[in-house]
Amino acid sequence: MLGLMQDWPLLCHRIIDHAATYHGARPVVTRSVEGPIVTTDYAKIRARALRVAKRLEKDGIKLGDRVATMCWNTWRHLECWYGILGIGAIYHTVNPRLFADQQTWIINHAEDRVMIADLTFVPLLEKIADKLTTIERYIILCDAAHMPQTTLKNAVPYEEWLAEVDGDFAWKSFDENTAAGMCYTSGTTGEPKGVVYSHRSNVIHAFMAALPDSKGLHATDVVLPVVPFFHANGWSLAFSSPMVGAALVLPGAKMDGPSIYELLDKYKVAFTAAVPTVWLMLLQDLEKTGGKLPYLKRVVIGGSACPRAMTQTFQDKYGVEVIHAWGMTEMSPLGSLCTMKPEYAALTGEARLDVQMKQGHPPFGVEMKITDDVGKPLPWDGKTFGRLKVKGPAVAKSYFKGSGGNILDDEGFFDTGDVATIDEYGYMQVTDRAKDVIKSGGEWISSIDLENLAVGHPKVAEAAVIGVSHPKWDERPLLVIVLKKGEQASKEDILGFMQGKIAKWWMPDDVAFVDEIPHTATGKIQKMALREKFKSYVLPTVEAAE
Ligand code: AMP
Repeated sequence: MLGLMQDWPLLCHRIIDHAATYHGARPVVTRSVEGPIVTTDYAKIRARALRVAKRLEKDGIKLGDRVATMCWNTWRHLECWYGILGIGAIYHTVNPRLFADQQTWIINHAEDRVMIADLTFVPLLEKIADKLTTIERYIILCDAAHMPQTTLKNAVPYEEWLAEVDGDFAWKSFDENTAAGMCYTSGTTGEPKGVVYSHRSNVIHAFMAALPDSKGLHATDVVLPVVPFFHANGWSLAFSSPMVGAALVLPGAKMDGPSIYELLDKYKVAFTAAVPTVWLMLLQDLEKTGGKLPYLKRVVIGGSACPRAMTQTFQDKYGVEVIHAWGMTEMSPLGSLCTMKPEYAALTGEARLDVQMKQGHPPFGVEMKITDDVGKPLPWDGKTFGRLKVKGPAVAKSYFKGSGGNILDDEGFFDTGDVATIDEYGYMQVTDRAKDVIKSGGEWISSIDLENLAVGHPKVAEAAVIGVSHPKWDERPLLVIVLKKGEQASKEDILGFMQGKIAKWWMPDDVAFVDEIPHTATGKIQKMALREKFKSYVLPTVEAAE
C-alpha cells in the first residue's frame, strides 16, 4: 500500500518561493563588487530570479543546459542561481581562484553554454575565452554604466540583459531528481571531477543543514556566508538561509579581516561560516584593533581542521561559539558538525575543547563507517582510525560523465579519502587525508594533530606538517612554520612547546620557517606543493640513522 500524501517534488525554487511569501521583507545586504552596499529582500530576489529564468529561456537555455557562474557572494549571484535552476538548467559555480588551465578544462568538460561573471573576472576570462569551446555568451554582473570594454563574445551587462523581459513567468516543474547544480572537486590528484547536485539532494541537504544541532538557523538570525558560493555548494547557505527566512549579508569581493569585521559589526551578524584561513585574518585584525564581536553568536569553521587555539580565542575572548564542521564537495557538502550531545554538553574548559577538536556527529541523512584497507568495519572507540566512508541522499553516487568509474563500495558507501576515528557517541575526528598521513616505521602520524598543536604557540601564525623521506623510518614529520608578523622564534622554542603534549615518536624531526604556506583555491594547505618544495630536504635525524 502506498501513502496517500501529495506529490510535491522537492524543487530548489520552492525555497525562494517560501522565503518570498513568508519572509519577503527579510533583507539581503551586499557589499557590491562596484563598491556601495546594496540592500534588497527575498521578495525582490525571487521577482528578479523569475526574470533571469525568462531571459535565459529567451537566449535558448533549457532543461539540462549548464550555465557557469564565476561570481562572488552577491544578491545578483543568488538571483542567478534561482533563475538558472528554476527552468531546470544547472548552475555551475567555477572557482575563480583555480589556475586558468583548470578553469578552461572544467568549463569545457561541463559544456557550459553561458558564463555569468563578476566584473572582477573579466580580464581573467578574456585570457582563456578563445579556449572555451562551448560558451556562447558572457553576462557581466553590472549595469551599462559599469560595463568595461571587452573582447568577450556577445558580452552584455546583466542589468540591461535582464531589463529586456518582464517578470511574468512561472517556474518550470520537473522531477525532483533533475540536476540543479554542479561543482568540480579541486582535483589535487588527477583531473577535477564534476559533482552534480539534484533539486532533491539540495532541498534535503538544506533541511539537514538548518537543523538545531547542525547550523541551527532561525528566521531572526542575520547570516554572513563568508564561504564563497563557489566553494562546495556554498555550504548550503544560499538554500538553508532563505528556507528559514534568515537575513543575509553578502561580502562580495572583500574577505579581508577589516572588511568582514565591518559587516559583522554594522549588520549585527549572528551567524557566519568560512574556512580557518579567513578567521585567522579576522582574529589577527581584532588583535590589532581591539575590536569586539558583541552580536556574533556562532561561527561554523570547516574545510580544514579548525585549530584549537582558534576555537579557544573565539569562545574565551570574544564569546562566540565555534561549530567545527566537516564535509566535502561530494556531500553537498555537510557531513558532520560538532554540536553538543547530552554526553558532552556539561563539559567545560579544556575537556570541552578536546571534544570541539572533533569534526562532530552527522545530521540525519548522513551514514558513516570507518574501515580498514580491505573494507572491514573498525570499532567506534575514538582511537582506532581507518578510511571514512559515507552514504546518504545528498552524497554523490558518481561523477559527471562517469569520471573515476564506480565510486561506491559494495554497501553503497563513498570513500571520502579521509582517515578518521569515531568515538562511542558517534563523534568523528579526521586524523588526516589518506595521502597526507605520515607513515613512520609502519605506524601513522596525524599531520593535523601536529599542526593543531604548533599553532597553539603564541608566535606561530600558521603551521603545516609533511612527511619527508627517511632511510630508517620511511617518513618522518617536518614542521613548516609561518611566524606572526614581527615575531621571532627558534626551532628549539617551537619543539620545546610541543614536547610532552604528544607521543615522543610523533615529535617533528625538524622545523622549517617560511614566509608563506601555499593554499589551494578553497583555502586548504597545499600539501603537494609543500612536499615538492621540500622533496630534497635532508632531516637532521637522517645522518644519525645512517
Ligand atoms: P572540499 O571538497 O574541497 O570541501 O574538500 C573536502 C575535504 O576537506 C575533506 O575530505 C577533508 O579532507 C577536508 N576537510 C573538510 N572539513 C574539514 C575539517 N573540519 N577538518 C579536517 N579536514 C576537513
